Order: sequence, then C-alpha cells, then structure tokens
Amino acid sequence: MLESWVLGEWTRGGGDGREYADAVTGETMGHLSTAGIDMEAVVRFGRETGGTTLRSFTFHERAAMLKEVGKLLLSDEVKSPLYAASTRTGATAADSWIDIDGGASVLLTYASKGRKELPNARVALDGEPEILARDGSFLAAHILTPRTGVAVQINAFNFPVWGMLEKFAPAFLAGMPSIVKPASSTAFLTANAVRVILESGILPEGSLQLLCGSTGDLFNHLDGQDNVSFTGSADTARLLRADETIVRNAVRFNAEADSLNAAVLADSAGPETAEFDLFVAEVVKEMTTKAGQKCTAIRRAMVPERHLAAATEAIEAALADVTVGNPAAEGVDMGTLASVDQRAEVERAVAALSTAADAVGGSWDFVDIDAERSAVMAPVLLRAADANASVLHEAEAFGPVATVMGYKSVDHAIKLVAAGRGSLVASVYGADPSEVAPLVEGIAAQHGRVLVVDSTMAAASTGHGSPLPHLVHGGPGRAGGGEEMGGIRGVEHHMQRTAVQGSPDMLTAITGELMPGSTITETKGHPFKLRFEDLDVGDSITTEPRVVTLEDIAHFAEFTGDTFYAHMDEEAAKRSPIFGGLVAHGYLVLSFAAGLFVWPDEGPVLANYGLDRLRFATPTYPGDEIHVVLTCKRKTLLAGRGYGEVSWSARVLNQNGELAAVYDILTMVAADS
Ligand code: NAP
Repeated sequence: MLESWVLGEWTRGGGDGREYADAVTGETMGHLSTAGIDMEAVVRFGRETGGTTLRSFTFHERAAMLKEVGKLLLSDEVKSPLYAASTRTGATAADSWIDIDGGASVLLTYASKGRKELPNARVALDGEPEILARDGSFLAAHILTPRTGVAVQINAFNFPVWGMLEKFAPAFLAGMPSIVKPASSTAFLTANAVRVILESGILPEGSLQLLCGSTGDLFNHLDGQDNVSFTGSADTARLLRADETIVRNAVRFNAEADSLNAAVLADSAGPETAEFDLFVAEVVKEMTTKAGQKCTAIRRAMVPERHLAAATEAIEAALADVTVGNPAAEGVDMGTLASVDQRAEVERAVAALSTAADAVGGSWDFVDIDAERSAVMAPVLLRAADANASVLHEAEAFGPVATVMGYKSVDHAIKLVAAGRGSLVASVYGADPSEVAPLVEGIAAQHGRVLVVDSTMAAASTGHGSPLPHLVHGGPGRAGGGEEMGGIRGVEHHMQRTAVQGSPDMLTAITGELMPGSTITETKGHPFKLRFEDLDVGDSITTEPRVVTLEDIAHFAEFTGDTFYAHMDEEAAKRSPIFGGLVAHGYLVLSFAAGLFVWPDEGPVLANYGLDRLRFATPTYPGDEIHVVLTCKRKTLLAGRGYGEVSWSARVLNQNGELAAVYDILTMVAADS
C-alpha cells in the first residue's frame, strides 16, 4: 500500500485500495488508499502548522528553501533512483529529464525570481501607491499577503514530478502550505520524490502533505482562504468546479484541463523552406515525447491545402524513424503510455477521430516489450478528409496521435484553431511577418501561449510543448480557463491583494516602502555613511544648492557630443512649445545631482547599479539653482552576501521648489550578514 504523508507522518490507508501497475511489464506494483485518513485534520494541520510557519518566513527565506530542494533533486544520488522509478511509468530517459530535471528547474526558477522580484519581507507591494487627497494626506497601496488556507493540488498522471513541483513552488513561495494529490497510476513516482524532499529536512513541517489515493471528503473542509489547483481532464474539472463547498465558500479554483493544441504552417512556409522542416520535426516530437501524453502536445497540424500532401508525407516519413518499445531499451525513442486503461481510452478517441480522418503510415515493430501486457502503443497519424468536421476539434486522444488538416486561407485557419474552443498553446511556423502577425493576432485570445517558429530562433527555441515557469501556462475555455506559473503571477494566485488606505506614514510602516508624503528624517551625518542595518526607510539628506550656468550647458554639450538644439540654439529653443528658451541637458542635471549627494570616501555604499522611474519634470534653465533631497526608500537584505539593496528616492528641485527630476537610485550597501 502506497503511503500518504499527512499530519507529519507516513500513513497507510485502509481497505484493499486501488491497484497500480508497471506500465512496461504490466505487473501490479501495489495499491493506493486514503481510507481512514481524517481529511479535516489534514486541512487543519496544513493551515495551522504549515501555514503559520511558512508565513513567518520572508519571500527570500522561502526562495532559499526552494533552491535547496531544487539542487537536491538535481544531485545524482537522488536523480538515479527517481529515473529508475520513472521508467516504470513508461517514460524514456528523455521523458524523465523533462519530468524530473524540468521539475527541479521550476523550483530553481521560482527561487531566483523570488529573490529578484519580491522583497525580503512578508508583505509585497503591488504597483504604485494611489494618492487620494489633494494635500497628499490620504493615499492607498495595494499589498499582497499569503492566503491563510491550504493549497490543494490535484495532478494528472503524465508528469508525476514536474506536475507536483510546478504547483508547489509558487504556493510555497507565496507562503501557502500544499496538499498534493497525484494521479493514482503514477503516484508512486511522486511519492518517491516527496520522500526524498522530506528526508532532507529542508521544508518546514506541514508545508507539504501528500495524499496517495482519493481525496475523500477533503473538499467538505475547504473555505474561502483555500485554493484548489486542478490538472486533468475537462470532465473532472467540470465536476470539481461545481462541487458544493467550492461554490458555497468561494474557494479559489484553478483548472488546467485538456486541450486540442494546434500547430499552423504558414502559406509561405512551403516544402522548400526551413520552417516547413521545423514544423514537421515539431509535430513528430510532440507526438512521440512522453508518448504524446502531454497536455500541450500538438493534436491538430494545420497546413495550407496546397501543402497538405507534402506535409503529411514528410511527417509520415519522419515518424517511420521513431523506435517504439521498452523505454529502458537501447535506442528506444518512444516509451509506453502510463497504463493499459489509458491506452484503451486513446484507442477510443482514435476511433472517434477516424470517422473524419484516415490513418496514414505503416506498422511498428515494438522493441523488447510485450505488446499486450504493457501499455505500448504505436504513433497514429491521421489525415482529415474535411478539416471542418467537428470531431477533429473535440476528441482528445491523450497519446501519440495527431491529425493533419488543410486550410484555405488565414481566416479559415483562425476559425479552425478556434473550433478547439480554447487551448493551452499553439505554434505557428513561418518567416513572413505580414502573414504570421495577423494569424497570431487572430488566435491569441484562444490561447495561454503562442510560439512562433522561424529559422532564426529555432536552435534556441524551447519548443511547442514546454511550459516554462517564467511564462503563463493555462488557456481559456476547454483548456480549463485557468492560469499557472507565469513567474510571480503564479505566486500572486496564492495571495490576497488588498487595497490599504491610510496616511503616508502608516502605509510606509505597513509596506516597508517610503510612500509619497511620508515623514522623512534628516540624518545627522550623510546617510551614505550608514551600514545597511543602521539605515531606516525615511532617512534623508538635503544637499547644498548649485547654480547651472550657460557655460556648464555649453561645456556639457561639447564634452558629451549631445548638441541637441534646445541646449545650443537659442532661437530654435525659443520656438519650442516645450522649452521656450535654452535648457540644460537632463543628464547634466542628473550628473550635477550626483555630484551634490555623493559621499566621496570609501564607505558602506559599495555600488550604484542603476536608476528606476526617471522623469524630467520641469526644464532647468541657465541660472537655475538646483538641490537634491535624497531619501532611503526601500531596503532589501540579500542574506549571506554581506550587502543589501537600498533604493533611494532622489528629488531634484529648483530654487522655486519645482521638481526638475525625480528618480530612484539603486545601490548596494554593506551589511553585517
Ligand atoms: P483525470 O482523470 O481528470 O484525473 C486528474 C486528477 O484528478 C487525478 O489526480 C485524479 O485522481 C483526480 N480526480 C479524478 N476524479 C476526482 C474527483 N472526483 N475528486 C478529486 N480528484 C479527482 O485526468 P487524467 O486522465 O489523470 O489526465 C489526463 C488528462 O489531463 C488529459 O485530458 C490531459 O489533457 C489533461 N492534462 C492537462 C494538463 C494541463 O496542464 N492543462 C496537464 C496534464 C494533463 P485519480 O488518478 O486517483 O483518479
């Protein structure tokens, strides 16, 4: 009996349970059951033990833990046994690489994004503050805080490791504990990965629980702070979305369902072009990687009618080179499906598709495998008699199956793509922007991701079927209507966005970032002399003034070569509706500002690494006197590096108190830790 990890221990479910088998040999491996597990206690343990601990860490601390787990999964001692177990799901080594190494890389990407794009704090600021009163005494900021419930994550069978980690990483980074429910047929591999992760001791208790078997009455215990993220068939998504508790308690529900993804060959990408070859290679790759059991795989290959025969023949020829059989055997390119039941489902879908399309291609000799007992299946390429037949856009064969169909025009291609009623991804093959751009515009709303392939990027392309943690994964309509990953967007799904209104000082205290109008404190010495720990948000210095002369402007123009008329030609500058006379270069103002506020000696400020949000607000005229108010705006400790990032608000003002320039200066400041 495959055990579940709940309430801090490995727990065996009761009863006979459900059988699971080796996809290659057909031999029974064990059973799964969650009978007897108290789901209410599991939810409570997640919320109270996992959630409370997770929320006590900052985003950066959680990111560091994700990085450790990612590195652990990539170590040889951990990977080898996982790869061995993965073979029993029917996966080749290349398929396992996508699942296991791909899953680890999601963790590493989230770790890196967490450190770079989120603060080293427990509250994140979302966007710019909104000033709500003329005198600036009342404003609002949107903040993001972790939801206080559990993230229930239900996964499909096809990527037992990646599927778990792509949901776990953003939830964990946000500060939400996960309850993972893998699909029964391949849960043993997920359980192996979870065991290794837990044994490392990296994760806080309660932050990850695993249910091997049914979710039982888990849903009955969910409320408005919980999330359910589902990946699987459209039918199950429909059922779960309509669950009474989900609806009644407004539980946040995200679905990634099935999808009939299209690849579209542009009319200009005929058989003699590189894009034609790339299209053919990608269709074959998508049919055979993971034996076509990818939610993103190409199911519908659309080609201009005049290229239909050539494209079908080329795909058929390339498929003939694919070796199918035991995923562990030498030279095998495509392994088996995940289970015999799954093969029966795919065969049913092929039968449905065959009412509107004919199978093309020969037969396969399977290598080193029992065709009956195992879940092996030959690739099936179909050629549509009529591309408009609805079954071609409705029946999903979740295996090594694709249908080639002809289209008459760009508009027709757009209509055919849309007949899939929403997909995760489409790819377009063509080098002529005048043809490709309208096609992409026409199909974008039907998709979460569109890949455009031409010869200039093909070598670097990550391919049609690879969802990337940086990019949105999900799609409208049939694809589930959900969205996962997408970098920090996926983290935000696990947080509550709250508009907090109040005074500038109060919002500065809540967000940890200097709000406009907040009280600033003139430091005794120069704030650039303070180490990271000694600096406070709001610490400020007002510099001495400096007059900007006509000579300065002329010198700067000659010195830099920036002889734009507004700095050189008085008559022309007078005609300008913006300047009305000669003005100083914006960069001269910035340079003088730096000269005013910089502290010259060696000190805690190690480097200035850029400017953000620079605006030149009012022109600076010859004779104007400028000074700078420099205030510590935000601090982010980069733990373990010996320095932190400090962002400074710089306001350059003229003698009338008008804003000449405003920007944030980004510095690295020495820290004790
Ligand atoms: P499925 O039958 O819908 O099962 C998906 C998951 O839901 C499994 O973990 C399953 O557990 C669980 N489940 C089923 N009924 C449930 C219920 N009443 N309550 C709670 N959980 C329930 O789909 P599948 O056959 O495993 O996966 C294949 C499908 O997934 C394909 O249609 C494919 O397109 C889709 N898919 C989509 C994506 C995506 O990202 N959009 C990714 C991969 C796959 P058991 O296994 O224990 O029944």
